[in-house]
Amino acid sequence: MSVHLSSCSLNCWDNCGFKVEVENGKVSKIDGNPDHPITKGKICGRGRMLAERTNSPDRLQFPLKKLDGEFKRISWEQALDEISNKLYQYKNEFGSTSVLHSHDYANGGLLKNLDQRFFNCFGGVTELIGSICWGSGIEAQSWDFGDANSHSPHDIVNSKNVIVWGRNAARTNMHLFQQLQQAKRRGTKLIVIDPIYNATAKIAHQHITIKPGMDGLLAAGIMKEMLRMNLEDRDFIAHHSIGFEDVVELLDTITLERISELTEVSIIDITELAKIYGDRPTSTYLGLGMQRYHNGGNTIRWIDALAAISGNVGITGGGANFANKQVGKSFSTSLLSLPEKRKNHRQFTMMEQAKSILTAEDPAIKMMIVTCGNPLTQVPNTNEVKRAFHSVDTVVVIDQYMTDTAELADYVLPTTTVFEEEDVYYSSMYHHYVNYGPKLVDPPGEAKSDLWIWTELARRLGFGDDFDYTREQWIKMGLQSLRDQGITYEKLKEFGHLELKVEDIPWSDYRFKTPSGKYEFTSSAAKQRGYDGKLSFSLPKESEWTNPELAKNFPYQLLTIHPLRSNHSQHYHLFKSEPKVKIEISKDIADKENLKNGDYAVVWNERGEISGYISILEHGVHAKIINIDEGVPAKFGGAVNKLTSSSLSDNGLGSTLYDCLVNIKAAKSHINN
Ligand code: SF4
Repeated sequence: MSVHLSSCSLNCWDNCGFKVEVENGKVSKIDGNPDHPITKGKICGRGRMLAERTNSPDRLQFPLKKLDGEFKRISWEQALDEISNKLYQYKNEFGSTSVLHSHDYANGGLLKNLDQRFFNCFGGVTELIGSICWGSGIEAQSWDFGDANSHSPHDIVNSKNVIVWGRNAARTNMHLFQQLQQAKRRGTKLIVIDPIYNATAKIAHQHITIKPGMDGLLAAGIMKEMLRMNLEDRDFIAHHSIGFEDVVELLDTITLERISELTEVSIIDITELAKIYGDRPTSTYLGLGMQRYHNGGNTIRWIDALAAISGNVGITGGGANFANKQVGKSFSTSLLSLPEKRKNHRQFTMMEQAKSILTAEDPAIKMMIVTCGNPLTQVPNTNEVKRAFHSVDTVVVIDQYMTDTAELADYVLPTTTVFEEEDVYYSSMYHHYVNYGPKLVDPPGEAKSDLWIWTELARRLGFGDDFDYTREQWIKMGLQSLRDQGITYEKLKEFGHLELKVEDIPWSDYRFKTPSGKYEFTSSAAKQRGYDGKLSFSLPKESEWTNPELAKNFPYQLLTIHPLRSNHSQHYHLFKSEPKVKIEISKDIADKENLKNGDYAVVWNERGEISGYISILEHGVHAKIINIDEGVPAKFGGAVNKLTSSSLSDNGLGSTLYDCLVNIKAAKSHINN
């Protein structure tokens, strides 16, 4: 048995350092690396399950081709010849943009970006832009600060107060959760604002339940109270910001009573929050769910503005921590992806991809290649996505397992897991350490790395020279921009992780990356793009105020939060007992609809329906909430995205997954039928 340092490759806030045991050529156990400066030996069950994900007999092991509706094993040579011939033919006949590349972030690793190099060298294809996950929040922070950067995780020790706003750290960001527990023990005041009384709320001094989609308005209410009590930071506002007068003018048009009524947060709580923000330093940790609404970007901008007027920007112990984009920007990704090679390209939004595929002309989409993703469960409006995939002549999916998306493919190519290839790992969400992951075991059957697949296809298509590098050379290329920091391939290999030199306290020099160089309450970047750039009191698209008729038929708000034990759709098939769709509802809905724990029920709206088993959330949940965890594969009940909308958020081409009204009723269990 041997033990090796490695990294979690899952799309997660924490990017944990691993200690991996290998026995008889198999990964036998995964633990946390106790010497990792942030993750310190603690990892979650989803990370541990990467051992099962690697060893499972259900792994795809051979290239598959669908013939008469059935998958048949074929050789790599046949698969690569046929796929490269099709790429060549479609490009010649219809242009290279008749090929669509669908990429997401299911499997991390710097070299996973080489798919972009392949498609750029191919001449450019139809690409997906925007983000299901965090697009509107990222753009919101770019408008306000000029970028979306977080404080170092170590800085939390300097916070007098911590507000966790819509981030269930206990489930999705476990090392922040540990820090919150420690901070509370040190005497830091901890407040959680969330529509659900979740595990993070349980450790807080106070949990404030809010009506979903109204977080921006709550921030506006807190600001209004701060201004009434003269708690704002006049110096920051006067010297380091522009557009404050627009905010004051807007706040004068609404009463605190109205804000309290709309957000369903009491005036007492709003006033108390204003005092906490005025009692610096107060840090805010924002979650991703609250920007998945039609008004999502505006929501994040209000919370940024609250951090700014309260003087909690650029100071130790403060911050509006949403993402940490400075991490990803440290790497030489364009050396890897060669954007200058792209001659043509077309862009569809991630959200509206199904509609765009179905209606594309000049050229129509003839071929799709899916990497690092499972759009059939993750992209909103599953039924429409399915129709779109069926409409394309040739679909190729590269994956480790037969996902819902792979089931629809014409060719499925088996790829490697994190332990079967060498790469480096980072996350632009939380901490600023880069991890090294060596190749530890051989892949099963004939599974090959994504890089090998691109290299072989590139050779067949005449640009093999652009892929003629060793893995070591590729990693060195990606790390080139870090040489001056002393971060090299050799050192990463030696130490297992290294600290990137990024800002620990973003904006501490008050030099913002906005066009004015100041914090922008009214965004010049937004104005340049045709928006008015001001904050507003915008609302979700599906609500009793914006669409009363819809709300009459569909009175409940659906949330689709990240599952506890699966990384999105990736782990459900590895559960010891068969997963079921769990429909979590408030006590009020249970009483009104006469539903009990364990009842079988159907949730539906105009886009689709999904059935599952009732679980009643007894305490502290907003009265109109239904939650169904995202990512459930079709064979276990299907993805909740059958219900969600493909509309875009107000900026950043983000999703509106939580902006979703539904109805619910008891149903006959398919088991009893
Ligand atoms: S899923 Fe996240 S928390 Fe869990 S081991 Fe991986 S990086 Fe760590």
